[in-house]
Amino acid sequence: MPVDRKSLDSFLKNFAGVDSYGKEENSFAKRISTYIEGQKWVRRPLVMSPAICSQFGWVCKNSNLLECETCGAKLCIPEPKIELYDAYKACIEKILENLKASHKAHCPWPITPAPECLVKMISMPKEESLRHFLKRLKPSLEFQSHFPHIKDGILSLLGLEKQHVVALCKLADIDVDDANKFGESAVSLSCTGWTLKTQGNGAKILISCDSCQRLIWSKAFNLISNEDIPVSQNDKDSSIADDSPSRKVKRLKKEDFNPFEEHRPWCLWIATEEDRQSFTCKENSTNSKSTKETNNVPGWKIFIKSLLGNVDEHQESELENTPSKEQIRGVRDLLETWANIA
Ligand SMILES: [Zn+2]
Ligand SMILES: [Zn+2]
Repeated sequence: MPVDRKSLDSFLKNFAGVDSYGKEENSFAKRISTYIEGQKWVRRPLVMSPAICSQFGWVCKNSNLLECETCGAKLCIPEPKIELYDAYKACIEKILENLKASHKAHCPWPITPAPECLVKMISMPKEESLRHFLKRLKPSLEFQSHFPHIKDGILSLLGLEKQHVVALCKLADIDVDDANKFGESAVSLSCTGWTLKTQGNGAKILISCDSCQRLIWSKAFNLISNEDIPVSQNDKDSSIADDSPSRKVKRLKKEDFNPFEEHRPWCLWIATEEDRQSFTCKENSTNSKSTKETNNVPGWKIFIKSLLGNVDEHQESELENTPSKEQIRGVRDLLETWANIA
């Protein structure tokens, strides 16, 4: 069955615990932000990422001190030297143990940590992935002139074809013209955890990830809408006024958006199980992650697999009235015959 608005709405109404989950999600995000402010936690290994510490109720006071937001317990976090690897590893294992063990008596965190799905991407029913997808995409449409160009090759890395983009845009009620204009950008962003939004006085439009709380000014990238602006006489004359500072700003080379590289290394959208168990620190983002084949699957792959469940069935049902199963079988037999000949 294709998912229509009505069945989606009734699914959402019947989905128990949505409210309490929302609260849980907000308080988790607040804890995460304490690690990010002032970059207090950037040199820490992925095995004790902000997400993993926040899962057990800890907020970051400074780069060596965590505090439980419920029982007020304090946890000192040393910074062992990685050169002495055995001691380093033992020290971190002790810290991980203390994330559970150092709470005061009766503190609920050790037995009821925040849900796993806030720390890692967990395979979900297709209806739920569509709900998440639309929750990011719909509000982004308000800022459609700020959709960035997506770096070449990303769409196929995501396993998405043009027809998927068209079908997903349709599910989001984006008309064909708009889908042609910014559909690829909108779908790629929403499939990899990104939303367009404003903050504060709303002057800047930001590309934002709710999981790792990365916020990037959209204008740092090539925007699709910029192509619509005809080149003015001033721009054409720029060779004459080469030395003026404003020209230099204008000519700063911007880049296309890479939805993998902009997440923080521990973000559930790009991290794999292997990353979450890693005792080393990845300060630079994960350039090679999307291309490197590992046994571990990054979050976006798990999400998109579920999301495409909505599209594939959708397309199948549209096909029902066109060629019959008999006809398809006939074509398949023909192809197999050709393959055997070749
Ligand atoms: Zn506690
Ligand atoms: Zn992220």
